[in-house]
Amino acid sequence: KILVTGATGKLGPKVVETLLKTVPAEQLAVSVRNPEKSEELKARGVEVRQGDFDKPETLDAAFSGIDRLLIISSSEVRLGGDEIRMRQHANAVAAAERAKVKFIAFTSAPNAEKSNFFLAPVYKATEEAIVKTGIPYSFLRNNWYLENEIGSIQAAIAGAPWITATGEGKVGWALRQDFAEATANVLTGNGHENTIYELSGKLMTHKELVSILETILGKEIPFQQVNDDTYTEIMKGAGVPEAFLPMLCNTQKGIREGGLEVESDDLEKLLGRPAVPMKEALTQIISQIS
Ligand code: NDP
Repeated sequence: KILVTGATGKLGPKVVETLLKTVPAEQLAVSVRNPEKSEELKARGVEVRQGDFDKPETLDAAFSGIDRLLIISSSEVRLGGDEIRMRQHANAVAAAERAKVKFIAFTSAPNAEKSNFFLAPVYKATEEAIVKTGIPYSFLRNNWYLENEIGSIQAAIAGAPWITATGEGKVGWALRQDFAEATANVLTGNGHENTIYELSGKLMTHKELVSILETILGKEIPFQQVNDDTYTEIMKGAGVPEAFLPMLCNTQKGIREGGLEVESDDLEKLLGRPAVPMKEALTQIISQIS
């Protein structure tokens, strides 16, 4: 049986839907904090279990009898969240070990073991904890969801400039759907034991992304490179809550310093096709938000 955590988030449902195309529903289970949010999956025959990374005792039942487990990293990315996520992931890994699952896939971060990117330490620690269990694993190091840029895309459509502090740093954006399909393929395929995949679309700078957006929208988007302080001030002025400002600023800095510049064709290999190209991916996003 395959179990997916985070199935009521944004990535998880896409993984589950992809799995449902090839795996009978009764061989699938999800572990979620609020089972009432998964009524539809339940009606389709997927087993819905309750599991909270903050309550280790719930995870024993949630992970019991599972062969292949996908741990989707948790989402406390605000200030102080590192410690919380580290503990949550450690709880999930320990429960997987107690439940004797046979394979763990984990959504990790680019170059997790060596990266200076501010998000990386949590992923590095989690990968190490998984390796320590001796359970066969696959680390799916998702580069950057293109959907992370929806706010900037909406603002640009409305006439705002594109503001960034990322300089010449490149990002391997891809649609969540592509990361989800690659993940589903790892969960159902063979030969993925003890693998590390750097999942990334074609690397490009913010400037390159914006120029593709300009072509699609048929208009010029004013592009402003600013420093970290100015970036933080502008985001504060735009109403971003205080607790999220360091995260946003560190993302810009991390990208500028090359933290997401990890070249790899692993995504394409796992998909068995190229990732959706940027122009098409942006067009999809624009049609969904407008
Ligand atoms: P979401 O925030 O939509 O989903 C996170 C999931 O984690 C949710 O389903 C949430 O449950 C679950 N979760 C949070 N806390 C707990 C907990 N205590 N116990 C059990 N489950 C918990 O994020 P996405 O789906 O978009 O992305 C998945 C993960 O990828 C993120 O959580 C984050 O770690 C990482 N990420 C990667 C990015 C990238 O660009 N590479 C960018 C942003 C995030 P619930 O549904 O109940 O809230």
